[in-house]
Amino acid sequence: MKFGITYHEKLKQYDLGPGHPFRGDRFENARKLFEEKGIFKNPDVTILRPKPAKKEDLLLVHEENYVNHIFELAEQGKPYDIETPVSPSILEAALLIVGGSMLVTEMVYRRELKRGISLGGGLHHAGKNYGGGFCLFNDVAIAAQHIRQRLHAKRILIVDYDVHFGNGTSDIFYSDSQVLFISLHQDPRTIYPGTGFVEQVGRGAGEGFNVNVPLPPGTTDNLYLKAVKEIVVPLAREFKPEIILANGGSDPHFADSLGSLALSVQGFFKLA
Ligand SMILES: [Zn+2]
Repeated sequence: MKFGITYHEKLKQYDLGPGHPFRGDRFENARKLFEEKGIFKNPDVTILRPKPAKKEDLLLVHEENYVNHIFELAEQGKPYDIETPVSPSILEAALLIVGGSMLVTEMVYRRELKRGISLGGGLHHAGKNYGGGFCLFNDVAIAAQHIRQRLHAKRILIVDYDVHFGNGTSDIFYSDSQVLFISLHQDPRTIYPGTGFVEQVGRGAGEGFNVNVPLPPGTTDNLYLKAVKEIVVPLAREFKPEIILANGGSDPHFADSLGSLALSVQGFFKLA
């Protein structure tokens, strides 16, 4: 089975301005790197061209008032908050990212792909009725809801290994037992968004289906991979997911300026 990567030349419009960590050239650079490494020539790799998500897709997760608010901000060219600007071109790219995550998730769920990557995906700080932390729409949560509501998926595991806690995704599925959300992140007392403690375990039917693994600043490969082996793997085995959505984030890397975890490229490789 094949491996899929989404790419669209308009993804680079998810550019939040000069000096912002979310710059559009990340997408071009990724494409160039894939080309240099011959990844696109590999017969097992398919490039997927995402379609923009529709409003009804956004409403699988987000409240209508919130979605309308973001569309209005885009028209007016006003930021959502100080670090999350909105414009027509950012909105266009945000919809392509959501569309890309829905596409790869659906294809993997249908076993048309073995694995897939949604370039630019993992906008995990957006909740039902809020955005922030560079995120407008939660592509991961929308992709999960897409295969549940339209393709009847019943057990979805989301592993979030971004350096920041995925507060939006956690909130969205907090009372839900069909989505197991496991997040490894830097100790929330030391980093945005300031939540993601071990005692946040889910509510009601969702109790036990939200697992937070905060790690101290300076955590290197060994401790990180030990946490994966001793916590994530046994829980995943017990839950028996039909699909795993991995919410990346290259920001646990030691050279990343946003976080203070200290993973190496080798560490990421072992994680994958
Ligand atoms: Zn992050």
